[in-house]
Formats: sequence, C-alpha cells, structure tokens
Amino acid sequence: MFEGLREKLTKAFKSLSGKGKISEKNVQDAIKIVKLSLLEADVNYKVVKSFIDDVKNKALGEDVLSSLTPDQMFIKILKDELIKLMGEKTPINLVHSPSFIMLVGLQGSGKTTTAAKLANLLKKKGKNPILIAADTYRPAAIDQLVTLGKQINIPVITGDRKNPIKIVETALKEIKDSGYNVAILDTAGRLHIDEEMMKELEQIKSLVNPDEVLMVVDAMAGQDAVNSAKIFDERLNVTGFVITKMDGDARGGVILSIRYVTNKPVKFIGVGEKIDEFEEFFPDRIANRILGLGDVLSLIEKAEQELDKEKMKKLGKKMFTAEFTLEDFQEQLKEIKKLGPISKIVEMLPGAPKIDTVSSEKEIKVVEAIINSMTPEERRNPKILNASRKKRIAKGSGTTVQDINKLLKNYEEMKKIMKMLKKGKFPASLRGLKF
Ligand code: GDP
Repeated sequence: MFEGLREKLTKAFKSLSGKGKISEKNVQDAIKIVKLSLLEADVNYKVVKSFIDDVKNKALGEDVLSSLTPDQMFIKILKDELIKLMGEKTPINLVHSPSFIMLVGLQGSGKTTTAAKLANLLKKKGKNPILIAADTYRPAAIDQLVTLGKQINIPVITGDRKNPIKIVETALKEIKDSGYNVAILDTAGRLHIDEEMMKELEQIKSLVNPDEVLMVVDAMAGQDAVNSAKIFDERLNVTGFVITKMDGDARGGVILSIRYVTNKPVKFIGVGEKIDEFEEFFPDRIANRILGLGDVLSLIEKAEQELDKEKMKKLGKKMFTAEFTLEDFQEQLKEIKKLGPISKIVEMLPGAPKIDTVSSEKEIKVVEAIINSMTPEERRNPKILNASRKKRIAKGSGTTVQDINKLLKNYEEMKKIMKMLKKGKFPASLRGLKF
C-alpha cells in the first residue's frame, strides 16, 4: 500500500535533513518534489493544487526555515495537510433497526466481497447482520454471496434471484421483526455507468430507505473511479465510500482525491481478498502510512482481534525460561501468522523497514516444515535429535540436515539471549546495539 508514493515523498523530506542552514530555495525544491509525487500518484490535479498551496503557506513561514529539524517540521505539515484532505474519521451511521446499508458501484469494484466483509466486521462488533443478494446483473454474484455468507455464518436472502426489486421486497418482509438489526444489500453494477442501473438503484433506495448508501470504489481504477464517484453521488446522494484493493495500490490517488472531489467521507478500506482484510478508515493512520511513519495502532488492534491472548501471555512468560521448547515456538509461529503476511506487518512499522519479506516468509516456512516433521518428543527435547532423526526430519519436511542444524543453533542462541535478558545482562552479541 502506497509504496510508490511513500518512496517519492521520503525524498522530499530527506532533502531537508542534515543541512546546516535551510534556505527558502531548499523548501521550494522539497515542495516541488511533493507536487510531482502526488501528480505521479494519480491524485486529482485540483486536489494537488490546493494541497500544495496550503503546504507552501505553512512551510515557507519562518517556522521551517528557522527550525533545528526542518525535515521533521516539514513531515508534520504534510501529515496535517494529508489528514485535512482525507477529512475527519466518519463512523458508520446506523440509526434504524433494522438498519439498511446499500452498497452500490461498478461491476468488479468489489461490492459482493465488501458486503460479506462488512457483515463480518459488524458481527464482530456485536451487531446481528443479514445479507441481501440483489446483484442479478453479474452472473454468479448471488451464488458468490451465498458462499461467502456460509463462510461467516450469516444468512443471505436471495428471493427469486431474477428481479432485484422483487428480491428487495421479499427481503423487507423477511427482515421485519426478524431480530436482524442490520441488512447489507448488494446491488447490481455495470461495467460503465448507465441509466438503467441508476434508475434501478434509485428505486431500490426509495424502497429500503437506507441509513447508509456506500459506494464501493476500486483504488486501482484511479481518477476514472473518482469521476464515477462524483456521478453516483449526484444521482444517489451517497453517504460514504469503501475503497477496495488498497493492498494493490502503490499510488493512493483515489483515497487522496475522493473526499475533496465529492465532499463525502471514506468509511472503510479493503486491504486484501480475504474476508477479514477490511478496515475502518482512519485518516490519521493512513497519513502515517503514506509518510512511512508506521501504523502501530492498527497493528495492535489487529493483534488484539486475531491473537489468542492467553496463549501469547503464557508463551511470552515461558520464553524467558529454560522450558521454552520447539513446541512452544511452533505455537507462537502459528499465532503470529494470524497477523497476515510479513510484508503487511512490516508496512505498518515506522520507517517501513526494508526487509526482504519474500525470503523471510520462505525461512519461516522452512522452520515450520521442520518443526511439523518432528515428533512431539523431539519438539520438547531437541537434544535427542541424532543424525538419523535429523535425516528423517529433513526428508519429511523437504529440507536439509543443514537447515535443521541452523534452526537448532538459532533456537539455542535465542534461549541463551532470553536467559541473559531475564538476568538483566546483555549478551555480547547485542552489546553496542541501539534500542
Ligand atoms: P463486484 O462485481 O463489485 O461484486 O466485485 P467482487 O466482489 O466480485 O470483486 C471483484 C474482485 O476483486 C474479486 O476477485 C475480489 O476477490 C477482489 N477484491 C475485492 N476487494 C478486494 C481487496 O480489498 N483487495 C484485493 N486484492 N482484491 C479485492
């Protein structure tokens, strides 16, 4: 997410660091880099103009020029302006019970997937959601939602599967007094905006009187998506946006333009194909990610949601004792994997450290395969691993005896370090490192 934009913006503030005295020209040059970065990131030109005017006003003031850390001041200004561009965090607004959320958007934008992701998120937050499959235009959209509904254990109303208006009417009857308090409605999109679709959506909207009309927008579609957003909003008066496929978007043009252009907030973002790869939209956290300042808060929240806290606590305590076995290590790896691929975790760390995530991911797979091929006894007491056992494990895990020896060496090293840390001593290998 945002890697292209982040890399270019970093050049702008690096150009202001480590200099003795900053001149107005230095700041002008940095602003020029920011402007180009945004244009290359496919941000709407009007948005770029307004953004740059604001940054100029602030950055060319005395503060940056006389600051001891002009690069930090510059980052702060960019962050504030990025947040301003994306607007205040606007939570979902569910007033009725049942409350209707109508999802609209072009075909392929991710509507059906989003319907299931949103239902899943609301369920986790204590709501009792139901899904309505009214996308009769895209073949298989209804079956897709039924399958997703099964995965997350949320019922899906499909009606006669042919006529969207009839499906919605059936749903209204079924939901009334049913105990479901949120109904998420998937509607039909088209490849391009057309009158028939708009009329159908207007009709459905007046039937269900939704609390939210969320337009689902594909981040990868760039300014075309922003233009469609404007048209959808003019016809349907949307209440907000869901920006999908943020995981594949290195630029960020849509998320930085859509609020300015439509004056409607982004409420959620899709960050992957899986059901739980879906987040509430926090403008300040996104600004941090764009600037490479990390998003530790989202990482902590994810950890709180996904990890088995009791297990992690127990393993954490055990790590500092001699009893920490390869079995515990295996458990710990299983838990940590719930946070998603390493590349996504690293992206949330400040400075977005340059780690070869592909080879790290591979190394973890090797370690897991080795531990999985051990017997429980070997995991608890690796000392019994003689040459023939190692050969057997290597064969079973598709690895080599050297891989096994490397793992055992690392495991012993880790145990030594943990023991010393517990005693308050730093091992020689860590001395001199800055924390
Ligand atoms: P619809 O025609 O608008 O209902 O679109 P779908 O829900 O069928 O989504 C189209 C494609 O986009 C599917 O392959 C989805 O898996 C994919 N998709 C949806 N949201 C995301 C996302 O946030 N990230 C990624 N990588 N893919 C997504």
